[in-house]
Amino acid sequence: MKLFRITGGVHPDDCKTLTAKHAIETLPLPDLLHVPLQQHIGSPAAPVVRRGEQVLKGQLLAHSQGMISAPVHAPTSGRVMGVGNYPAHHASGLSVPTITLQPDGEDRWANNTAIPIDPFKLPSEEIAARVSAAGIVGMGGATFPAAVKLNLRTRYTLKTLVINGAECEPFLTCDDRLMQEQAADVIDGIRIMAHALGVEKVLIGIENNKPDAQSAMDAAAADYPDISIARLPTRYPMGSEKHLVQTLTGRETPARGLTADIGVVVHNVATALAVHDALRCGRPLVSRVVTVSGSAIRNPKNLRVLVGTPVDDLLNYCGGFTSTPARLISGGPMMGQRLPGTRVPIIKGSSGILALTHEETVHDAVMPCIRCASCVRVCPCGLVPLEMANHARAGDLEGAAGFGLMDCIACGSCAYVCPSNIPLVQYFNYAKGELTARQRAEHKQAETRRLTELRSERMEKQKQAKREALAKRRQAAKAQQQKKAAEADA
Ligand code: SF4
Ligand code: SF4
Repeated sequence: MKLFRITGGVHPDDCKTLTAKHAIETLPLPDLLHVPLQQHIGSPAAPVVRRGEQVLKGQLLAHSQGMISAPVHAPTSGRVMGVGNYPAHHASGLSVPTITLQPDGEDRWANNTAIPIDPFKLPSEEIAARVSAAGIVGMGGATFPAAVKLNLRTRYTLKTLVINGAECEPFLTCDDRLMQEQAADVIDGIRIMAHALGVEKVLIGIENNKPDAQSAMDAAAADYPDISIARLPTRYPMGSEKHLVQTLTGRETPARGLTADIGVVVHNVATALAVHDALRCGRPLVSRVVTVSGSAIRNPKNLRVLVGTPVDDLLNYCGGFTSTPARLISGGPMMGQRLPGTRVPIIKGSSGILALTHEETVHDAVMPCIRCASCVRVCPCGLVPLEMANHARAGDLEGAAGFGLMDCIACGSCAYVCPSNIPLVQYFNYAKGELTARQRAEHKQAETRRLTELRSERMEKQKQAKREALAKRRQAAKAQQQKKAAEADA
């Protein structure tokens, strides 16, 4: 299959040998599960269970709210211990609304949805509705509700489904193992999504450091001529949605646009498996495969884990730490987030838990920029990171935006090569957050102004109407008086 060149990118040591040969193991039931109500982009789910209630595995715990949202289901059978706040799965240290569940040890499934005989006979809307009801979100880490993307055919002319099996982040091997161990189910989920989207072809991209996954997927897709599997060069960030599409199709997604603008929808291999489970088995998304790795982990593994399992349980199952980790990360080392601690729960988007040693992290002091332009050479988005950082550091957010701040995908390639160890991505994330907050505030002010003007206009119209009515009444009264006077004269 022909591949197209993209610019930029880096070649970090992939460190995948720590877990690539480890088959997926299922983590035993934890003592307690903490299931956050917001594990997706969009509005948090609203709880439908109460403290003390007995629930079955797969039973609805919280329903979705609004267009962009996802429901949350019980990861196992047990008792609801409470609905309250629990530490969030990110470095903010904030707590988020969470349902705590005590497993009863039986892991009994609820009878959730009617299982269709053949999902290929279902209309697109029905497939998207079932994917939505199953709470499936983008499992590559984006956590965007999958059903919203499956419904895009109503607004865009779609031609191609691209499946992301690149897994370009170092250390992570959960998608690699899924493709090796459940290739037939992954391909089935992909075919169901392609049917729902009504696309002509499917392109699957797998980096060429996963030969076993490629062979397994080749074999599983052998009977489907509309599915092509590409061996991608190993280069970070090959798994970035827009770059993957460009590599596979040669087409560039417009700045700030969606891949749907050029007729392409992208899903991850783990999301495809979740779609298979939902459509073929009627099972909502209540577990996922997580890579637990890094040199500070005694026995790195790939684990199938229930959503809501505390990170502590995964670490203990892997034999704990060999030494105190220098950094704990959720996701990959390039784009992942620092974990605030080990009490936080696994969520639908948790692809990895990494415990990195001092040697695996950068600790050198930050030095002044030497204008070497290395960051410019590796930026896959064609940006000028040093200028963006200069403006962001000086608080000139508009200036940073002028250099393409909002097009930055926070891939970290620039920071990776920077000889001065400048934390470029931190500047960009901070500046983007500030800029977005400022734009929101400006939008709110403009909206308030617009509503105030509308109100004044309406009140002025009402006053005018009252004045006119009064004038009419006076005129009528005057006419009446004149009429009476004329009658009296007569
Ligand atoms: S890589 Fe670092 S030192 Fe070199 S130009 Fe960019 S910011 Fe400056
Ligand atoms: S983090 Fe942003 S600026 Fe840096 S290389 Fe990636 S896309 Fe370019």
